[in-house]
Amino acid sequence: KEQSPREVLALCRQREIRAIDLRFADFLGQQRHVTIPAEQLTEARFEDGFGFDGSSMQGWQAIHESDMLIVPDAQTAFVDPCLQNTLAILCNVKDPVTHQSYPRDPRHVARKAEMYMQSTGIADQANVGSDIEFFVFDSVVFDQNAHEAYYRIDSSEGEWNGDSDRPSSTAHQIRHRDGYLTMPPMDTLQDLRTELMLVLAESGVAVNSQQRATATGGQCHLDLKAAPLQRAGDHLLRLKYLARNFAARHGKVATFMPKPVFNDNGSGLHLHLSLWKDGSPLFAGAGYGGLSETAMYAMGGILKHAPSLLAFCCPSTNSYKRLIPGFEAPVNLSYSYRNRSAAIRIPVNSGDEADRRIEFRCPDPTCNPYLAMSAVLMAMLDGIQNRISSGKPLDKDLYDLAPEERRDVPSTPATLEHALAALESNHDFLLRGDVFTPDVIENWVRFKRSEEVDALNQRPHPYEFALYF
Ligand code: GLN
Repeated sequence: KEQSPREVLALCRQREIRAIDLRFADFLGQQRHVTIPAEQLTEARFEDGFGFDGSSMQGWQAIHESDMLIVPDAQTAFVDPCLQNTLAILCNVKDPVTHQSYPRDPRHVARKAEMYMQSTGIADQANVGSDIEFFVFDSVVFDQNAHEAYYRIDSSEGEWNGDSDRPSSTAHQIRHRDGYLTMPPMDTLQDLRTELMLVLAESGVAVNSQQRATATGGQCHLDLKAAPLQRAGDHLLRLKYLARNFAARHGKVATFMPKPVFNDNGSGLHLHLSLWKDGSPLFAGAGYGGLSETAMYAMGGILKHAPSLLAFCCPSTNSYKRLIPGFEAPVNLSYSYRNRSAAIRIPVNSGDEADRRIEFRCPDPTCNPYLAMSAVLMAMLDGIQNRISSGKPLDKDLYDLAPEERRDVPSTPATLEHALAALESNHDFLLRGDVFTPDVIENWVRFKRSEEVDALNQRPHPYEFALYF
């Protein structure tokens, strides 16, 4: 429901709020915050904002122009269940001199994507439902500075280190890759997930369900109800924050890293996508899987641009350790009804047209949700505008394709470097309507390449010790 600045101030009085936590998403999609006494939040501040130093964050402002503004968005306010008498609000980032939105503010990119979509006349709303997985371990020990990059993760379900592929035995052990929908006491995180589901709902983020996911090591799954694109990004930020904090309360640690455990399922962030106009679902139709022609072209756009999209949707070096055959993650760029081995799955439809959607399965939770969702929307719009064919569906287990069949189906990029190179050579569809500026794309590629791809390649890997020491 809509929430005005005046209503937010009333909520503060009613709930005896004493501190306001001003939050924003940085370039990579992590939240940052500054806290002020509640009295300082006035209606005028929802226009004028608050100053902060924008220089000390990865990928943002140069030091000589570091003064920036954060301007709270009343829609996003919620009473924070993890902090005392605190109201949390997400902010937009602006230039204090010109009062213009900051082009590298990912939340602003999402707003521009929504505005561009409206300007095309194709649709007035893009809905995104997020199906997110993450691990909750008992503990993690790692030493970034150690030459051998040591790590060990523990779970009541077992223990791993970089070189063992299965947990040591415990009484109620979940067998390898067999955790899906298991019951307590094998599933040790039921209460934590329920708590999270309820606290999200209470804060205004509706959840369809929570489930035990497949991997050993406490893999969790939450399915968020669809929301308009920018709001769906806000919801994911809140989910990650609450998951990390509720896990910490239980003495555990949540991670959104896509593939923390070798030889077991990784964590995806599947996006359930639909476009709407004048309250009508544009993806519902009488074609394949109950889809409309518009939906087919939208899929064509995603499949065509997928290698570039993955630079935003799967933006970590670890992301590509998830996109391999055999773990319910997509490896081929194709679509299919009910099929979890395809990059786009068309979920079995309930007959309800409002529920008709496509599921893009490549993204993972290391993405900056605003940038990933905006890029996917831009690809769908390009597909619709240019009637890009989505080709034929591939209704078979794509992990098991014969070599001659595989030749005709493009694969997901093999590494982050491949995806970054694809983005460098194909990004015109993202620049339309000034949604992604060339600066954002260049800065993203430069940052990811130097701070992540090269930084990893230059370090000895634990497995290299097993192979070569
Ligand atoms: N964990 C899988 C992934 O990486 C998804 C599992 C599922 O859809 N049941 O995407």
